[in-house]
Amino acid sequence: MRLSFHGADRGVTGSCHLVEAAGKRLLIDCGLFQGSHELEEDNAGAFGFDAASIDYVLQTHAHLDHCGRLPLLVKRGFRGEIISTPPTQALVRLVLRDAAAIAEEEALRRQRRRARRDGEGAGHDGNGPLYTRDDAERALARFGRTLHYRQALQLAPGLQVSFHDAGHILGSASVLLEIGEGGRERRVLYSGDIGNRGRPILRDPAPPPADIVVMESTYGDRNHRSVADSVTEFNAAIDATLRRGGNVVIPSFALERTQEILFFLREATTSGRLPRDLPVFLDSPMAISTVQIYRQFPQYFDAAAQSLMANHSDPFDIPGLRLSRETGDSIAINRIEGGAVIIAGSGMCTGGRVRHHLRYNLARANASVIFVGFAAQGTPARRIIDGAPSITLFGEEVPVRAHIHTINGFSAHADQRELLHWHGLAGGRERTILVHGELKAMTALAGLLQPAPVSMPAPGEVMEL
Ligand code: ZN
Repeated sequence: MRLSFHGADRGVTGSCHLVEAAGKRLLIDCGLFQGSHELEEDNAGAFGFDAASIDYVLQTHAHLDHCGRLPLLVKRGFRGEIISTPPTQALVRLVLRDAAAIAEEEALRRQRRRARRDGEGAGHDGNGPLYTRDDAERALARFGRTLHYRQALQLAPGLQVSFHDAGHILGSASVLLEIGEGGRERRVLYSGDIGNRGRPILRDPAPPPADIVVMESTYGDRNHRSVADSVTEFNAAIDATLRRGGNVVIPSFALERTQEILFFLREATTSGRLPRDLPVFLDSPMAISTVQIYRQFPQYFDAAAQSLMANHSDPFDIPGLRLSRETGDSIAINRIEGGAVIIAGSGMCTGGRVRHHLRYNLARANASVIFVGFAAQGTPARRIIDGAPSITLFGEEVPVRAHIHTINGFSAHADQRELLHWHGLAGGRERTILVHGELKAMTALAGLLQPAPVSMPAPGEVMEL
């Protein structure tokens, strides 16, 4: 068999791995490079393989850095089948449609800006979107069979695939390939993104044993604060803001993090740690749609969330929850001067409705902003966290007087301890291949996994095994 690496190699975004075995060519994920403008070129660049030659894509989960180049793959000739778990298929639908709409809007803005600068008639410059909504629909049409966890599917003689719970987001999976070639049977496990044990809503990662393990290593060099401590810190920040009479703004990622935040707020408001009737505004159409998809798949929840559902008690239902889908509902929130929790995207404040809420609340000394996820360098979220005295929003300089909190323990990625535990279950006796991590994090993890053979492939590297 031959494994090659076409994204998230010595880096964390753009996951894309190719397996050639038993006469088939399989891709594990086809994700977008994310983070800075330079990466736009990486996204538009060559895959490093012929898209038309791929028979199957095995999709680990619905995050954009794992599915965001599927429309390009189809645009460049892929006509095979995309296989995933049922929740992943539903969530990818939402994520790709949203990404394509944003890409089209951004391309239009770029064109208008250029037309203004260069005068009339300079509108078309070939700097179009990476892909359009139509491209996204064509990619979604390639989704075929779905597999529940541990359900095996034979793709060819000597090639069987199954998905196993990765505990990262709803429906997330590690992919096991059972390959029989040249009288040899081997099990190859691609981890996908690995979650932490004991997360709310999701079940713990459950990797099967394998001979060759390809695993993520995002936090291979550090451990997170515990979820329990993080929840205490989160509730205390909200409580203190309410006592000051201010609003709480939570910039949040629509997929997974927002559902967790709702779950924690539900626990706090039903247990009396926070006021029972606390007004919570979920101001994100994408997050609202994600909650609806979650509710369609309660069989993918952990035991605690399943028993809530069985008692007709929804894990995301807070007594004071208000959903705002329409722009008008969102604008109405701006009139609230205190006492509300406002959850809106984007998580890094690079766009979306949260920017309006920051514009109204950042300058208020009684308000607070609680960051609950990763903030990349160069984003407004990162500048606020790093203590900028003011930030520019809608061309206006807004002073930062609100209390700023950063909760680090809500990560959806396994930390070093959890990665080692996961690897202990998966084995990887023949070889462990580290991907999806910066070199520093990978090297630290590799040191702990040795003396077993560990590789850290460079982008484009090919391994014959
Ligand atoms: Zn992910």
